[in-house]
Amino acid sequence: MNWLVTAWLRRFGGTPCFRVYGKTHSEASWREIEVYATHRRDMDSRWPFLSGSCTTWSDCVVSVGWDFAEDLLREQIENPASREHPVVVAGGRLRDLTLRLASGASSVASASEILAHEIGHTGQARRLGVAYLPLVGSVTLFREGPNWWNHFENDASESGQFGGIVPGSVCPRLQHLLKQHRDGS
Ligand SMILES: [Zn+2]
Repeated sequence: MNWLVTAWLRRFGGTPCFRVYGKTHSEASWREIEVYATHRRDMDSRWPFLSGSCTTWSDCVVSVGWDFAEDLLREQIENPASREHPVVVAGGRLRDLTLRLASGASSVASASEILAHEIGHTGQARRLGVAYLPLVGSVTLFREGPNWWNHFENDASESGQFGGIVPGSVCPRLQHLLKQHRDGS
């Protein structure tokens, strides 16, 4: 199943905008995860449900918007994550203000933290195999919280570790986009 989804995305998703190192707390070794960008997921996209969203499709494929990819790259240029010093979700929650502030983090999650959350989902895809998409896909809209249906979202935020962008993997289009916005053109 993971293999099938990955093969499908590789065929129709174009080239990944970059690859990242990721794993969950319980995994010993780092995995390479492909991040695909599409304008349908940009913040100003008119696609319902998709605008501003990230989706983990399998144990090694995550879909994001081009604007998110650019934010993440900018963050990583300023303050790169590494496998020795991975980014995790502060306080184990993207949206719980109390837990985030208690851990000394800002109230708003960074793009790198959101990617760490998605990497938590790649660990679930690995564990659950064929059950991942129908099971997690159906509850992911409920987001984090204290109820049983929040389990997969909470677990993704608690377990995901983002170990940095794989060197040399940033696609030319994203490099160009970043340069264009930096130059103000
Ligand atoms: Zn999620």
